[in-house]
Amino acid sequence: MAPMVSSRDPGDIARYLSDESRMTGGHAEEVYWPESATELADVLRQCSEKRRPVTVSGAGTGVVGGRVPIGGVVLALERLASIGEPRAESDAARITVQAGAPLETVQRAAAAAGWLYPPDPTETSAAIGGTIATNASGARSFRYGPTRAWVESLSGFLADGTPFELHRGQTVEKAGRLAMPLANGRVLDIPAPDWSMPSTRKHAAGYFSARGMDLIDLLIGSEGTLAVIVEAELRLLPAPEELLTGVLMFTEEWRALEFVVAARGEDSGRSGSRAFVVEPISLELFDGASLDLLRRRGAGVCSSARAAIFFEQPVYGGEDRDAWLAAYAELADRFGALDASWLAGSREEARCIRELRHELPVAINETLARRGVAKLSTDTAVPSGTVNELLAAYREVLDRAEIEHVAFGHVGDDHLHLNLLARDPDHWCEARRVYDRLIGLAVEHGREGSAEQGRGKHKPDARKKR
Ligand SMILES: Cc1cc2nc3c(=O)[nH]c(=O)nc-3n(C[C@H](O)[C@H](O)[C@H](O)COP(=O)(O)OP(=O)(O)OC[C@H]3O[C@@H](n4cnc5c(N)ncnc54)[C@H](O)[C@@H]3O)c2cc1C
Repeated sequence: MAPMVSSRDPGDIARYLSDESRMTGGHAEEVYWPESATELADVLRQCSEKRRPVTVSGAGTGVVGGRVPIGGVVLALERLASIGEPRAESDAARITVQAGAPLETVQRAAAAAGWLYPPDPTETSAAIGGTIATNASGARSFRYGPTRAWVESLSGFLADGTPFELHRGQTVEKAGRLAMPLANGRVLDIPAPDWSMPSTRKHAAGYFSARGMDLIDLLIGSEGTLAVIVEAELRLLPAPEELLTGVLMFTEEWRALEFVVAARGEDSGRSGSRAFVVEPISLELFDGASLDLLRRRGAGVCSSARAAIFFEQPVYGGEDRDAWLAAYAELADRFGALDASWLAGSREEARCIRELRHELPVAINETLARRGVAKLSTDTAVPSGTVNELLAAYREVLDRAEIEHVAFGHVGDDHLHLNLLARDPDHWCEARRVYDRLIGLAVEHGREGSAEQGRGKHKPDARKKR
């Protein structure tokens, strides 16, 4: 048998020592690239016997340092990347994929067969295993929920190389215990997490917990701390005929936020009967600073816009595209959206608008890299309708401390990323202190300190002890 591919060369190891958090201090002795589940199990068994720490690496797009090794061995999964054919079953389908497959390849394989894989955490170069390990969400989780909702089964290995295969519905919590069936016939009896989750729509600051929970949901979002995920069966939906995609520009942020309330259908109590209904799958905010950043990169954003909302609306066969357009136009008018707003007229234009949404966090990360500072981004979700309060509280602290900041993201889910842009490494230390205060403030008020990015090694305090 050919020896498994591994390397102790510092040059090979170097590209696994950080992620998009730009966290520094990562180090490892060796990197392994298993090409089969058997090879992967061998590495885990050997490391377990020799008590060498193992860090699992997906594509390294995480923003909290989860895959950054602190010694030991890196297990890089990019060679375990096969994707099966979607299998139709009545009005849905399933697809089996290996953990190293890039999300964009999975999305494309689904689309080619007329299906949609709903999770879309913006950065499609992420590996599917990484998105499951972090329970990634993103713009479309507003309608479809996070990755967890789309995972039907998982197979992989525990830290000592013991294989497992789990199917949704197979193992649920009973009397505070979860009985995990292992492939060697044994059953691992473990206590179910019993902390209360926050009342926000999204949460990723620690292990999932719920009464009667499914064991598979404990592994999803466990950030590589409980098991190595090797293969997953994912659920697909029929693909819409078209995704109406647009960016509505507003002169004031409150107008944009009011638009979101109405687009979620939550304003009928305030304005009487609703003449129109929209059903977006994404509602994303760009604040004034975000638009400034995009302008500096040449995006043709009109000069009077100080906030914008990105939206996507699926149009299924038999639906009236023009009726959806009219509904959005009416809503946009009502909240004073500018004529200079954008509506994609073709698939290519829609792709460009989505690319612009992706461009924003990329622009932020590049700015931070240029300044030589690590990422400081809030990931706070708040109870419905209180985003403006949170923004006001955060901005008051940041303006007083004179720290440049950019807010954007998943406003449909009451969840924004506010990035602190420190000027240089010295200023970063001050920004980090202010950032810790912001997270402390959020957690104390029952908000979720990490709604989608996870804790990694960058945010150990993202959940208050409850
Ligand atoms: C521009 C940009 C935008 C982003 N937007 C979003 C967004 O909107 N929503 C969102 O949720 N995230 C977002 N992210 C974060 C990131 O894309 C997700 O966290 C992604 O799911 C990480 O996948 P990865 O393969 O890169 O994982 P990595 O960064 O390699 O690893 C992440 C964690 O998962 C563990 N892990 C990886 N693979 C496995 C496996 N097979 N088994 C067990 N553990 C494993 C690692 O050990 C680590 O703890 C964004 C990132 C960027 C750069």
